[in-house]
Amino acid sequence: MMKFAAILPSIAVLAACTTLTEPAEPEPSPSLHETMIVFDSHLDTPANFSRQDFSLVADNPTQLGRTQVDLPKMKRGGLDGGFWVIYTPQGPLDDQSFKAARDAALFRASEIREAAAAYDDFELVYTADDAEAAARDGKRVMLVSMENSYPLGEDVSLLKTFHNFGLRMVGPVHFRTNQFADSSTDVDQPHDGLSPLGEELVREANRLGMILDGSHASDAAVWDMMALSTTPIILSHSGPTAVYDHPRNVGDDILKALAESGGVIQINAFGSYLEELEPTPERAAALEALAADFEAPPAELPPEQQAVYRDRFLAINRDFPPPRSSFDKYMEHLFYALDLIGPDHVGIGADWDGGGGVDGMEDASSLPRITEGLVEAGYSAEDIQKIWAGNMMRLLRQAEAAKEVAD
Ligand SMILES: [Zn+2]
Repeated sequence: MMKFAAILPSIAVLAACTTLTEPAEPEPSPSLHETMIVFDSHLDTPANFSRQDFSLVADNPTQLGRTQVDLPKMKRGGLDGGFWVIYTPQGPLDDQSFKAARDAALFRASEIREAAAAYDDFELVYTADDAEAAARDGKRVMLVSMENSYPLGEDVSLLKTFHNFGLRMVGPVHFRTNQFADSSTDVDQPHDGLSPLGEELVREANRLGMILDGSHASDAAVWDMMALSTTPIILSHSGPTAVYDHPRNVGDDILKALAESGGVIQINAFGSYLEELEPTPERAAALEALAADFEAPPAELPPEQQAVYRDRFLAINRDFPPPRSSFDKYMEHLFYALDLIGPDHVGIGADWDGGGGVDGMEDASSLPRITEGLVEAGYSAEDIQKIWAGNMMRLLRQAEAAKEVAD
């Protein structure tokens, strides 16, 4: 009895001790994706900054090709930021239109700065070192890029003004051939690559320490950019032709030359560039009717009519959704490029808020799946970090090292 009684308290003490020393519910260790710096090279999100129904810090409803990135989605997707785009649709090549495009682009550049200033979570940066430091500090990083140099008009020195706004990546052209370069999606290709003004643009971008972006440029223009630029170029949102032969994608010859010159392709996630997608007859008819109601392609319409066109286009997307590609098809493009030119020359530029149409990649919160896919395929953490940010930052550092002006 004595023995038993003597033992009892010790059991109680032991039980208490066990309770005290037992570790609390272990913190889930961060996934590999969460430990990475994750940058995307082509965020079209600034196009939303003027919209009354959009807030960068709210969890906006995901909308095809329009609302795929905001702070909550970035947090869920582990997206630390990247290049935020000043995009300008191609318009007529005359002085008045150049000035209107210039003003709109300067306005957009201001909006990006204002967004960074308005929210503590975001930080506008100008260098690769600062981009990585801000990401490690938990900030959402804003570097600035320009898609379509049309707003520069015929005055390449205007690039310095945008540089002062933070511009560190510039692409000469968009859907239509312009004063700088032939477009990959325009049948009219009078420059056979870059125009003399386009060559000036490349030299000025090099002088200012910017990365040159060959996405949307014709193949001949990409070859010209690779030949002329003193630092490696990027294709900020493109794909391999070998997986899907579309003018917005590039062939193995360009990919190999890109890698040889130290450049990078960032794989695009726009469904229509990933595979041949047939619209339903209802959608095809609605799109035909839309085109018939306007006298020119949307890019050539005056701004008010462009807005009407866009609203009707979005309504068609709602009523007769476009056919969609798949996450697996996206990964096929990514793996093809990785197999061909290796993890030092491939990254991610999903065209968020400018593309869309991929099941499983509805918005930026889906990014961890890409890391999971890369891990499953046997890529090391080191390689995956290069793909998510390292390669793009290498290009920015090379552009910074080659610049000929003081900041
Ligand atoms: Zn684009």
